[in-house]
Amino acid sequence: MDKIIIDNFEVLACHGVNPEEKVNKQRFVFCAVLSVDIRHAAESDDLNMTVSYAAVKKHIQAFCEGNCFDLIETLAARLADGILKAFQLVREIELTVKKPDAPMSGKFDYVAVSVNRAWHRAYLALGSNEGDRNGYLDFALNALKNDDSFANIKESKRLKTEPYGGVATGSFLNSAVECDTLYSPEQLLEVIQAIELSGGRVRKERWGNRTLDIDILFYDDCVIERNDLCVPHFDMENRDFVLIPLAELCPNKVHPLLKKRVQSMLSELQSK
Ligand code: ATP
Ligand code: CA
Ligand code: CA
Repeated sequence: MDKIIIDNFEVLACHGVNPEEKVNKQRFVFCAVLSVDIRHAAESDDLNMTVSYAAVKKHIQAFCEGNCFDLIETLAARLADGILKAFQLVREIELTVKKPDAPMSGKFDYVAVSVNRAWHRAYLALGSNEGDRNGYLDFALNALKNDDSFANIKESKRLKTEPYGGVATGSFLNSAVECDTLYSPEQLLEVIQAIELSGGRVRKERWGNRTLDIDILFYDDCVIERNDLCVPHFDMENRDFVLIPLAELCPNKVHPLLKKRVQSMLSELQSK
């Protein structure tokens, strides 16, 4: 993707572990590489179609001067997230924060932290089969909408389905959600589990009755094989209550392991 670059922008501010660094300003030097599709702006020659580097520069300065962190890790990571949230045309940022006057002996040009952050496209499955099922799905959706680490949230139609796996008793309401997120897959799992808990979920047996179940179906084209996190979601190809709503949102998305489109997985399952 195209890049907009701000190189070696200097701000005087107070960040550091040592007490004197909290009161005496020192230099922080920023290098930001922003991934932005600039084709429309180039065609129209219109500033509104791109990201104003002056506005990003102002954001960096205000954030750096307005906070006082111990670590440049914190400064870099929070600032990168803040820029992605404030400038939605920026899809990815590589941000380096240099500290040329770091209190450290010896001769050096600077110490620095570099972070890479991006919006990631995730697909989630929502399910409920206890209590006010529509209310629990609304609750989950609102929790996502109220968290600014999510954007472009879209829910499929809700589908009434019969329980799967022979444990749950009442019928389910299921839907799929498409969203962009700044969370890593591990953070996303933590966030959806917290939403399940605040939605009254009591973890009993797998596939049992539950007020709210949220699963990560896809996260970009990532393949994750940990015991507590398996992406793409295990067994989706055998679940019509997952594939029907998902096919409404992304029929042509290709499962990175099975190499099949969502719509093809659904057609195969329905013809079994
Ligand atoms: P299933 O995962 O077969 O749909 P379930 O949703 O009933 O069953 P849970 O009891 O909700 O299962 O979750 C069991 C564990 O699955 C969770 O603690 C979580 O760590 C793990 N897990 C692994 N991969 C994923 C994923 N992609 N999304 C959500 N949870 C996952
Ligand atoms: Ca599930
Ligand atoms: Ca689950």
